[in-house]
Amino acid sequence: MRTTVSLLLTSALVTAAQSTTSTLFKDLDDIIERDVAIVGGGSAGTYCAISLQDQGKSVIVIEKEPRLGGHVETYVDPATGIAMDYGVALFDNTPAVNDYFARFHIPLVKISAFNISWFSYDFRTGKAVAPSYNPSREEVLAAFATYFTQHARYPGLERGIFLPSPVPEDLYMPFWRFVEKYKIQAAVPTMSFRALPRHMVVGVLTSNVLTPANHTVIELYRRAEAELSSTSSLFLSSEVLYAYREPTNTTEKNRITLLVHTHTPTETKLSLIHAKKLLIAIPPKPSLLDPWLRLTPDELSVFTRYINTGMYVGIVNGTRFPPTAGILNLAPNHTMYSFPYLPDMYNLIPARVPGLMLATYGTLQTPDPYPMSEAAVRQHMLEDIRRIQRENPDRYPGTEEPAFVAFAGHAPYILQVSGEDIKNGFYERLYALQGQMNTFWIGAAWAGDISGEIWKVARGVVLPMLVGEL
Ligand SMILES: Cc1cc2nc3c(=O)[nH]c(=O)nc-3n(C[C@H](O)[C@H](O)[C@H](O)COP(=O)(O)OP(=O)(O)OC[C@H]3O[C@@H](n4cnc5c(N)ncnc54)[C@H](O)[C@@H]3O)c2cc1C
Repeated sequence: MRTTVSLLLTSALVTAAQSTTSTLFKDLDDIIERDVAIVGGGSAGTYCAISLQDQGKSVIVIEKEPRLGGHVETYVDPATGIAMDYGVALFDNTPAVNDYFARFHIPLVKISAFNISWFSYDFRTGKAVAPSYNPSREEVLAAFATYFTQHARYPGLERGIFLPSPVPEDLYMPFWRFVEKYKIQAAVPTMSFRALPRHMVVGVLTSNVLTPANHTVIELYRRAEAELSSTSSLFLSSEVLYAYREPTNTTEKNRITLLVHTHTPTETKLSLIHAKKLLIAIPPKPSLLDPWLRLTPDELSVFTRYINTGMYVGIVNGTRFPPTAGILNLAPNHTMYSFPYLPDMYNLIPARVPGLMLATYGTLQTPDPYPMSEAAVRQHMLEDIRRIQRENPDRYPGTEEPAFVAFAGHAPYILQVSGEDIKNGFYERLYALQGQMNTFWIGAAWAGDISGEIWKVARGVVLPMLVGEL
């Protein structure tokens, strides 16, 4: 067996050698042994690394960016020193969230109500439009009450995406039909462009959503980074070139072998990692996994079903919009809610830093992990703002031009499958992959796209399974 591994690794090394200088190999003696190797240091990977270390297990995190945090983005205004999160910012008020922040001594506060006056435009024309659907607060609350009643029929949704078998039609019918069946139209604008998990919806409706008191979620990841670095458990700016996984029932102690390439401005090195288990915490899209992991036929047949969107967020100055104005994109007659045509900006809202606005842009669902170039998105966003300024000179006078002070692309985002796939047992097949080939999986695709849900599923479902097999 070792011979096979050596041969495979040698071939990977040869490939690497062909494209790099000989200095690449100076650290090949960097051979590391750990209980668990974790690929991806976003919300899920970081939480699992810290949690495993707290349980006395040794880990190594391999993260491709020079920092931990994934979708977390924090901007600090150079003029005022005011900090603001423009990626992951809000957390549901649940034990998983409170325990995790408390562990790093980061105080959380409830967010105060937004004081926004909304102005609606068709961003394609820049012309003002009136919202076509304005349910009252009572109608919205009643619709959500109905939605929660239906949600409560499926307790498996409280610990991941565990659906009854056979899957009830309500869970795979198009969402618009579910909305019509239960007459919950009034909830749809609040759910907005994606289905928020129940805790978060309740939090939004009852002003019970948390954020770090200093508005810098990145602080959580800096502290995690310091802790993991202090135990030599973190490879930043690193990617796995090649992974070898023993079949599940092996007697080998180390069932995982990874060849990792680290590339920073000051360091280029290759490391060999031996681990008992592999925990993958990156979006499970085949094009992101297969080149280094060589997916099994089961993994491939599940992960190829995913479609995703692209989400892009920018902080813009020079908009000329008033300080409390929210600018909403509506397309008249496009659905009863006048949802905008995508890809486009959903809205702009006032940022914490006076004079700046937070702009959010989304694409339609696609199999392509990277649906648009970030340059094209930025250009489209600025054109939208200029069009609104141009078409409404009396309301937005002046000569200021919009420009980005910060921008971040978040693709692939929101991995989902078709109703037909859900009906055919996709999520059962997805969870059946846990533990196969000594590999476990965690992240938004496995738990829902909210950090609190991911941490809850990690600590309640995935980590106990993984630790039980160490
Ligand atoms: C703009 C935006 C705002 C959001 N706001 C909130 C919010 O307020 N509250 C909330 O709860 N949720 C929010 N979310 C949802 C968010 O997706 C989840 O909370 C959570 O961050 C998802 O975590 P994850 O670990 O699954 O993925 P990620 O955080 O994306 O982590 C994946 C990590 O893997 C790394 N990686 C990828 N490929 C490789 C590779 N080949 N090798 C090594 N590393 C790799 C990435 O760099 C990244 O660090 C928001 C999402 C977006 C896009």
